[in-house]
Amino acid sequence: GSSPDVSRRILDDIEHQFSLDKDDLIRITSQFLEDFKLGLSEYNHPMAMIPTFVTGVPDGTETGTFLALDLGGTNLRVCEVELLGNQEFVLRQQKYKVSEALKTGEATTLFDYLADSVDAFLTEFASAVPASPTAEQANPFASPSLNDLPDPTVPLGLTFSFPVEQTALNRGKVLTWTKGFAAKNAIGNDVVQLLQDAFDRKHLHVRCVALVNDTVGALLSRAYTSGGCVLGSIFGTGTNGAFVERVENIRKLGDSPARQKGGYMVVNTEWGAFNNTRTVLPTTPYDNKVDRESINPRLQAFEKFISGMYLGEITRNVLLSLIDAAPKPLLFNGRSSKQLNTHYGLDTAVMSEVEEAWEVGRTPIVPINHDTPKEKAAPNGVVVDTASDVPNWQSAHFTDVDALSSEDIARLERIRSVIIQRLDIDAENVSLRDAAIVRWASSLVANRAAKLSGCAVAAVLVQTERAKLGGGFATDEPRISIGVDGSLIQHYPNFNARLRESLRELVGLEVEKKVDIGLAKDGSGVGAALCALQATKQG
Ligand code: ADP
Repeated sequence: GSSPDVSRRILDDIEHQFSLDKDDLIRITSQFLEDFKLGLSEYNHPMAMIPTFVTGVPDGTETGTFLALDLGGTNLRVCEVELLGNQEFVLRQQKYKVSEALKTGEATTLFDYLADSVDAFLTEFASAVPASPTAEQANPFASPSLNDLPDPTVPLGLTFSFPVEQTALNRGKVLTWTKGFAAKNAIGNDVVQLLQDAFDRKHLHVRCVALVNDTVGALLSRAYTSGGCVLGSIFGTGTNGAFVERVENIRKLGDSPARQKGGYMVVNTEWGAFNNTRTVLPTTPYDNKVDRESINPRLQAFEKFISGMYLGEITRNVLLSLIDAAPKPLLFNGRSSKQLNTHYGLDTAVMSEVEEAWEVGRTPIVPINHDTPKEKAAPNGVVVDTASDVPNWQSAHFTDVDALSSEDIARLERIRSVIIQRLDIDAENVSLRDAAIVRWASSLVANRAAKLSGCAVAAVLVQTERAKLGGGFATDEPRISIGVDGSLIQHYPNFNARLRESLRELVGLEVEKKVDIGLAKDGSGVGAALCALQATKQG
């Protein structure tokens, strides 16, 4: 016999596997800090802690016009960025598709495609930047800082969002691919050289002067638009963060000139690889399945708990296990669909839609800060975006829909249509209870991701001596600026609020209140431009 108790137990068991209490969060953050220290001391640690040779952050007064190329997100982007020097910028961009064949083929083919895209962009915006400039034409980027570049060469900053062991602002070897890329004969090569060779093969008058990770871009661009920033982080297809570290702490630089110079340097953590050995992350069978069937098993462990590429897939695995539950199916009358049976067939955006439908009519949660902190600060100078009123997102799953209010029934009806439309499950097999279970599963997976994201942020605050693990420390800085980018943190309902709640548990209310989490607008483009500027100044 199959009593409600059995199904209840199955659901409770899943909920338990995904839950993280304060002790778990503290343990995970401590491990983060330990890995930060190891990564800063030795090369080839999974937490790569890559020195970026970016030695300061902008304050918004910078000026100039630069090209930027961005590889590593969903699309390839080429943009022209004009920094106006008043914390504002003008950006023109074009997106280009990167096919699976390009992602997994020969690296030279991929880099030729990048060069072709830059060429196409230059042709399209010929008025601003000549595609094949002649000696007579004035350098459109003429500015005092660029005099060292052979006229009329156009300076370009490359945002390359994969692990790279950087040895200078414009030099870095590809360490490994992530996020579905696997181009051959790139690992171990200098990515700037790969790109410059492609430009040269096509006789483009473009010079790649700076190599920047998207997290560094987020950090620099948030600093430019808000006047300062301590951490740039991405919660999109993948996840990663870069922060400003004291050079003396980057022990693996030994007594190199960069280390002797002292001061500060931006470090790209590559925190997506945190805990590849899985000693502290509470791994479920659903996570193991995602990992085993991924193109990079046992790598990017943290990223697989957090980012947009994987959350839908974890949730898909949970839903399939409920469809297949014994002794009796717990979902959709035991029927799946072609869509739901497809690897990566449940996009994280669908979870977002499901949770949005559930949130309709509830008190809206303050989203991440899209404004400048000046405008956002409350009269007392405290930024108002805190986790104070998170709705009952963790309300237990329910097996009895009779007790629901009419508003909740309407919400579940909406979720039901999302399931029917987006997962292609036959309408007759989707009950309101099924809708509630899908919402519950989505929130479990997303909540765990947001809480773990809070651990990464907390670790940076503790590492940079702005907070103490467990709380009880008040920095005298009036605010702590953090730049974020990525669809997950921008669009997933309450992701930011859940992250903040975890952060508050880890560093205490006093510090959490001062944290200003703001969107790094066009981070890759503006960040690459700012980095290109720094490179031309260092000349
Ligand atoms: P990238 O990180 O590649 O530059 P994005 O920040 O747009 O690009 O992230 C894309 C990822 O975000 C995809 O994995 C996608 O599933 C997920 N995603 C897209 N839209 C949403 C949404 N509305 N809510 C949550 N996740 C989303």
